[in-house]
Formats: sequence, C-alpha cells, structure tokens
Amino acid sequence: MDNIIYLHIHRLLDAKLILLRSNIITMFDKDEIAYFARKFYDNHKHAPRLKDIQILPFSKKQVIDLFGSWSSMLRYAQLPLNRNPPLLVKCANCSRMFKKQVKEMRKSLKHFCSCACNAQYYTTGRKHTQATKDKISSSLKAHRIFAD
Ligand SMILES: [Zn+2]
Repeated sequence: MDNIIYLHIHRLLDAKLILLRSNIITMFDKDEIAYFARKFYDNHKHAPRLKDIQILPFSKKQVIDLFGSWSSMLRYAQLPLNRNPPLLVKCANCSRMFKKQVKEMRKSLKHFCSCACNAQYYTTGRKHTQATKDKISSSLKAHRIFAD
C-alpha cells in the first residue's frame, strides 16, 4: 500500500516537473524540492551543489526563499552537506597533528591545535621594554601584598 502511494507521489511530481518546464507552473514547495534533491543524490551519488542548478528543476532563489540557505535545504532533505574533508595539519607550537577544515585553513598561515598553543606561540620570546617589565613587576608585587 505504501509503495503504491509512493509511486503515485513520484508520478505526480514528475508530472508537475513537466508543467514547470513548460512554464505552466513556477513554484515547488519544500517537500517537492527535497524530493528532487534526493533524486539528484540517487543519480549523482552526491548532494546537489549550487553549480548543479542548471540541471535541477528548481532555482537558487526558490531554495533561499523556502529554506533560508542551500545547506538547510540539504539538511531538510536529509542529504549530506557538500564539505571538503578536513585535512591533517601540524600545530606550529607543539607539532601535534590535527584535522582542520579547508575553509578554516584559508584564514591563517600558521595552524594551532588549541587557543593555548596559539597564545604560547605568539607570546614566547616576546621582547618587553624596561618600562613594561617594571609595570608587570610592580603589578605582581601588588598582588602578592593583597594575597598575604
Ligand atoms: Zn599545539
């Protein structure tokens, strides 16, 4: 019974696609877009990308209007997001290997496994002027007085 209903939905949507291509109708709803996205996934073995828009029955504008973004449409259709796999990089401070998204790697030249490593890398060997040293020293002394 379920299979028959499913088959009917398929036929209905494929019919709607013909109407759309002939400019008789112009709009799909969320579930229909999700259906075509999943169909694309089955045929191409990857979730539809923005550059696949030419071969998709819906437009980018429709996706943005209905879902807010391309990735929320993929989430709605329960399809995996098209992300580059993270790459293994070496921490500039502790040399530990860790995974980083390609998108994140473009933001900096050096890679750090943690905020602590980043801070340590940039503060070690930093030269302070005598005035700064005196300030730090007197500040630490003041703390010691209050701690006692
Ligand atoms: Zn590190």
